[in-house]
Amino acid sequence: MAKKTRKFKTEVQQLLDLVIHSLYSKKEIFLRELVSNASDALDRAKYEALTDKAIQGDGEEDWRIELEVDKAGRTLVIRDNGIGMTQAELEQNIGMIANSGTRKFLEALKAEPSGDRPEFIGQFGVGFYSSFMVADQVELVTRRAGVEGPAIRWRSKGEGSYTLEETEKAGRGTEIVLHLKEGEDEFLEEWTLKRIIKEYSDYIRYPIVMEVTRTKPAEEEGGEPVRTTELETLNSMKAIWRRAREEVSQEEYAEFYRHVSHDHVDPMRVIHYAAEGATEFRALLFIPSQAPFNLFLRDENKGIHLYVKNVFITDDCKDLIPEYLRFVRGVVDSSDLPLNVSREMLQDDAILRRISKSVVSRILKELADLKEKDPESYRAFYQEFGVVLKEGLYMDFQNADKLKELVLFHSTATEPGQPMGLRDYVDRMKEGQESIYYIAGDDLEGVRQSPHLEAFRRKEIEVLCFTDPIDEWVLQRLTEYDGKPLQAVDRGELDLDGEDDKEVRDAERKQAEQDYHDLLQSMRERLKEEVKDVRLSARLTDSACCLVADEAGMNAHMERIMKAMNQPVPSSKRILELNPSHPILERLKALHQADPNGERLGEYIELLYDQALLTEGSALKNPLQFAQRVSRLMVDAAPGV
Ligand code: ADP
Repeated sequence: MAKKTRKFKTEVQQLLDLVIHSLYSKKEIFLRELVSNASDALDRAKYEALTDKAIQGDGEEDWRIELEVDKAGRTLVIRDNGIGMTQAELEQNIGMIANSGTRKFLEALKAEPSGDRPEFIGQFGVGFYSSFMVADQVELVTRRAGVEGPAIRWRSKGEGSYTLEETEKAGRGTEIVLHLKEGEDEFLEEWTLKRIIKEYSDYIRYPIVMEVTRTKPAEEEGGEPVRTTELETLNSMKAIWRRAREEVSQEEYAEFYRHVSHDHVDPMRVIHYAAEGATEFRALLFIPSQAPFNLFLRDENKGIHLYVKNVFITDDCKDLIPEYLRFVRGVVDSSDLPLNVSREMLQDDAILRRISKSVVSRILKELADLKEKDPESYRAFYQEFGVVLKEGLYMDFQNADKLKELVLFHSTATEPGQPMGLRDYVDRMKEGQESIYYIAGDDLEGVRQSPHLEAFRRKEIEVLCFTDPIDEWVLQRLTEYDGKPLQAVDRGELDLDGEDDKEVRDAERKQAEQDYHDLLQSMRERLKEEVKDVRLSARLTDSACCLVADEAGMNAHMERIMKAMNQPVPSSKRILELNPSHPILERLKALHQADPNGERLGEYIELLYDQALLTEGSALKNPLQFAQRVSRLMVDAAPGV
């Protein structure tokens, strides 16, 4: 292959420019980033070596990361004997922006220009590109493990383009040569490198080695001091999850979290424990503070890293943690699974199921604890991950009771940003109230104004508002809490008054039904294509009418969701309810008495039905006709000029 020159993708160049020109604090993090990449590459090679003889027998079992300094040439080399990259992988990984951390970094920078806040950039992991903070030229030589063919050399000054060419390299892995910029000589110093490795990369499980020169005093008097060089391991290598909790500092947890999550902010909560007994494993889990932008792209969400006896197996084991906890990051290290386990074997493995069960209940317990002891933080967590956690109510029967204690909802009475739990709702229920009432819809403000809530407002009964699209699914399983059924305010008959004045109310109702009997009959006839029934309502106090589903029917919100998902919507007609105390009923009755088949009566009936659709947020079948009718009414009603 002849030497090729390629241009960086625009966003990579933007990133590089930022890195080169505005990053002046915490330059040292470049080493953390390169070591972290090397460690990932070693993990992958070690895993492939379990099954790939070609990697097993290549004489490079001494997995490690090497630092090498050339003071005269002013270069720093970071070398690993990990998985390496093919040319295609190299172009994919380094020439473009594939990782979420980097994209997020660019987005954040757009929101907050870096010029004024240099320290701001320092918080982020910008991966490989961060080498350009300290180097004016970077060379990367890599050879993919287990693949025949030459090694590839990538070279760039970070200005617009890079070159690729074939080259020689003994052994697999990647070597990165940084030609340090003027003034960056501290990164040639042994003690600086040692300090940086200790600070950011101590937990890396592979030895990070460097040749160090020692000067010992002369053995004989008057003789020359003895200079020896030896390889020194700079990190303790202790897998952080294998250490006792008391031994690990918050900073160490945070550094490790960055490594496994590529997140740039500290985690909200750290869960670190060892399970003993029937299944033995260690877990170090993190609940992030912020949702990644790709939380809903399931395929992009690599989960918890699974290790077996300290060997990395996979970060993509769907059976380790259920989808509704897919935001959790961290490591599980099992002593029970066989070391030669393949990713396929992990499917439906009994040991893994036990581990998963334990991990799930631990996470739920931790969340319950957070909710109880620090409700503010819990709300912040819920704001980020609540919609995902809620899926659990639909999917995980076994933990349904625990999950019911964790979900939060807004209601007709909650303050902005202060959703509440089901327990709070029940504690605030009125005496004699037997059901948990809810209304579902697209947005909180909208549902709070729904005519369906009028009777509840009058009685000061709180109603939960379910406004996430997932809520409709959740509700299919969330049918009761604490022995109390959940009841939709727009479904079935409603009787909020119970035994109070029942006789009087029954008598009034009978009377109204008699009074409006003929009108209702005529309305049923006219609207028979649209609704199942027309009846008098006990839920309305101000509005003239509303639509309700019958006990088993589908409400308007669910219907809209199904339509949006292109699902067939079973034709379930709803019921039009009329407010017997609204003056419009008297007018309709009069029109009906004058002429049961009158055109105007017909128009009014249609208008009422359209109103009911509008107030619940449903689309009108014929908006033009509606507008024309309203205009006609306005012309008729306005005083003539
Ligand atoms: P990140 O590590 O956050 O994904 P980087 O820009 O640092 O982002 O690296 C991009 C990709 O390049 C990595 O995901 C990995 O696939 C590949 N890569 C980087 N360094 C190495 C390495 N030393 N060995 C093998 N692959 C590497």
